Amino acid sequence: MKIYNFAAGPAMLPAEVMKKAQEEFCAYQDSGSGLMELSHRGKYFKPVIDRAEANVRELLGLTDEYSVLFIQGGASMQFCMIPMNLLNGGTADVVETGVWSKKAAKEAKLFGTVNIAASSADTKYDHIPAVSDWKLTPGAAYLHITSNNTIAGTQYQTLPTAPAGVPLIADMSSDIMSRVFDATKFDMIYAGAQKNLGPSGVTLVVMKKALAERTAANVPTMLRYSTYIEDGSMFNTPPTYSIYMLALVTDWVKAQGGIAGVEEVNNAKAAKLYGFLDDSSFFKSTVAVADRSRMNVVFRTPSEELDAKFIAEAKANGLTELKGHRLVGGCRASIYNAMPMEGVEALIKFMKEFEVANR
Ligand SMILES: *Cc1c(COP(=O)(O)O)cnc(C)c1O
Repeated sequence: MKIYNFAAGPAMLPAEVMKKAQEEFCAYQDSGSGLMELSHRGKYFKPVIDRAEANVRELLGLTDEYSVLFIQGGASMQFCMIPMNLLNGGTADVVETGVWSKKAAKEAKLFGTVNIAASSADTKYDHIPAVSDWKLTPGAAYLHITSNNTIAGTQYQTLPTAPAGVPLIADMSSDIMSRVFDATKFDMIYAGAQKNLGPSGVTLVVMKKALAERTAANVPTMLRYSTYIEDGSMFNTPPTYSIYMLALVTDWVKAQGGIAGVEEVNNAKAAKLYGFLDDSSFFKSTVAVADRSRMNVVFRTPSEELDAKFIAEAKANGLTELKGHRLVGGCRASIYNAMPMEGVEALIKFMKEFEVANR
């Protein structure tokens, strides 16, 4: 049976990428060893990390002002590294749109003051607070947003800007490279790889080099951005295999016509699935229509019992990992770049059958 995996992360990877990695798994090029068995300082790995960086630069349209870094510890490590390097007792403005931004705020409190500029916690994060209602701090050390809320299923349709002089930082873990945007409007972007860029184990950090100059002298070497900038993300042994996979995934994005190419397919997938949800009197989308995520489609059946039945029967039909996050329940279909249109069509076909049988 053909399996379509709707997991939120680690998530499915493009079939072509998995195939290519399989072909090279035991013997990389003429080395006679797998890439993960080879030195990060040897002649095979350097071109891989260079290609990963070049692909990111090309796809995001980055200028030389930016560094492209590969760091371990997941997006969650960035929740503490950012304030540790950039806050220095100042105030961080955080827009709280879900569990992940709440965690970013919690860590920032360890290093300074946090102003929750806006929050949708009261309504279970079912929308993105209007930018016109944000209460920003003049001279904030940075403004932090979460561009796509993986658990709640909301996404900024228009990315905000920060007041002049305030660095804009975005956690783009679950929608990086899924849509065209102007990366140069951001001072820092980060994303755990395991949603749209590759396997877990590496976090992509794109930041203006000048920002890293703020770090105080007492921040440990491994937690300083400048260490990664100066040593090309190779101060210590980097996660070589995860970076190799990220290079393959970004090669794949380029082959799809770049981010514009994948965005076109992403828009069509999301339109089809939300269109079905809107027409259905059985399944329901639970988030504000204007803020719906094109990556994580959160929905419910009429009851928790039917949610569980749907998830189990979908799985038996080759549609796996449709359970909502443990904090919110319900169902969630994550349809990142690697999910083909056929997967979404198979899901809708099954949802129609389930609706007829359980109405
Ligand atoms: C998955 C996710 C995280 C956490 O990523 P880890 O790599 O597990 O630390 C943070 N933010 C967002 C938006 C996510 O989707």
